[in-house]
Amino acid sequence: MPCKDLQAQLPLYAGRELDVVQSAALGRHLESCPTCASTAKAYAADVRTLNHYGRELVSQAPAPDLMARLRPMLGRPQPPAAPTLRAAARRKGGAFL
Ligand SMILES: [Zn+2]
Repeated sequence: MPCKDLQAQLPLYAGRELDVVQSAALGRHLESCPTCASTAKAYAADVRTLNHYGRELVSQAPAPDLMARLRPMLGRPQPPAAPTLRAAARRKGGAFL
C-alpha cells in the first residue's frame, strides 16, 4: 500500500484504534519507511501529550459540592449590565457612533 494511503491511518495507529491486522501491517511498513515512521513518532508524541493533559483536566474536575454552593446564588437578581458604548453614544446624541 502506498505511503499516502497508510499515512491516513497513522493517527489511528498512534491512538491504538486500528484492529490487530491493520496495526501489524502498518507496523511492518514503519520498520522499512523512515518517512512514515517519523510521522508516526510525531503522532505518538501528540497522543502522549493529549493523554497527559486529559488526565490533568480530569483532576481539575469541579468540587462535588460546587452546585450546592452555586444554587443559592442562581436565584439572586443579576446586577445591571454595564452600559455599552453604543448605548452611551445614543444618550449623548450619537456623537461618535
Ligand atoms: Zn511510508
